[in-house]
Amino acid sequence: MIPEPLRPARAPAAILTLTALAVWVGPALPTSLEGLRVLGPYAVLALGAAFALRFNRGRALIILTSLLAAYAGYHYAQGRLVFAAAFVAAVWRAWPKHTPLDIGLAAPPVFGAFLSAAGAVVLVAFVQESHRLAFRDELTGLPGRRALEEQLRALGPHYTLAMVDVDHFKKFNDTHGHDIGDQVLKLVAARLAEVGGGGIAFRYGGEEFSVLFPGKGLQEALKFLEHSRASIERYKMAVRGEERPRQQEAGIRRRSDGVPMKLLSVTVSMGAAEPEVERQPPSQVLKAADEALYRAKKGGRNRVSA
Ligand code: GH3
Ligand code: MG
Ligand code: MG
Repeated sequence: MIPEPLRPARAPAAILTLTALAVWVGPALPTSLEGLRVLGPYAVLALGAAFALRFNRGRALIILTSLLAAYAGYHYAQGRLVFAAAFVAAVWRAWPKHTPLDIGLAAPPVFGAFLSAAGAVVLVAFVQESHRLAFRDELTGLPGRRALEEQLRALGPHYTLAMVDVDHFKKFNDTHGHDIGDQVLKLVAARLAEVGGGGIAFRYGGEEFSVLFPGKGLQEALKFLEHSRASIERYKMAVRGEERPRQQEAGIRRRSDGVPMKLLSVTVSMGAAEPEVERQPPSQVLKAADEALYRAKKGGRNRVSA
């Protein structure tokens, strides 16, 4: 396992390692591909710069165009060097006892290879970023609905799917404001992410979440869901209360600096289902989970139904 803070370095590290291997132990390119050595860095860097320009990535654009300029400059200088070398070689050849030198071929492809690698690092970062934007929910950091749909498509025959909905959330928003509402969604998301039992939490949309248990039957998954529901119910969220010092409502506490703090709590309802027949479409399982959620709401909320 790679520690979390080092995760973003995985792709660049892999690219640099491969480049180093290719440069030092890789076989020489066949003559038909020799042009790649020169054109490759230009292609990768120019492609990266085009992406950066298209997607308004100023910093990436500056880096890539600088590298492009560096490579072009290096190339130009090397060209002159080769020319000078050819001149020296020609003079040398005139000397009957010496064989010609070919400095042009002796120049190592290391510089170009690492510039290509730099371009590739930026390109991979673009791809990762757009993947994150498409599949991760910005507010909670959970994977979003699209990610759930992807996972459902690639699932084995046994799994449990739960739908989760915050209870009376509209009222909560109206009473405490949208910002506190968002904080509640983050807290619910964090609890659901820790559900255990191999369950994966998603933000389905708005104040609705899903938990998917690949390979797990309904009865077993229900235990983990119930545990999660109870932990959300227990959690008390401290928010800044209205600053009216004389008001002594129940639930108001004071921080050490005298700011009144209000302790809020929320509950969620959950509905869970598993495929009932072999190869039941996931959309039907999701519908069944939704119906179970409806029963949980009707039954009084703050509960898990199957
Ligand atoms: P119930 O117990 O029946 O689920 O009641 P409810 O009020 O939670 O249900 P309803 O679906 O009517 O209300 C959902 C509300 O959630 C509507 C909207 O105000 C709020 N909401 C949806 N998405 C967000 C969000 O991203 N942030 C915040 N703060 N509120 C949201
Ligand atoms: Mg809802
Ligand atoms: Mg709700």
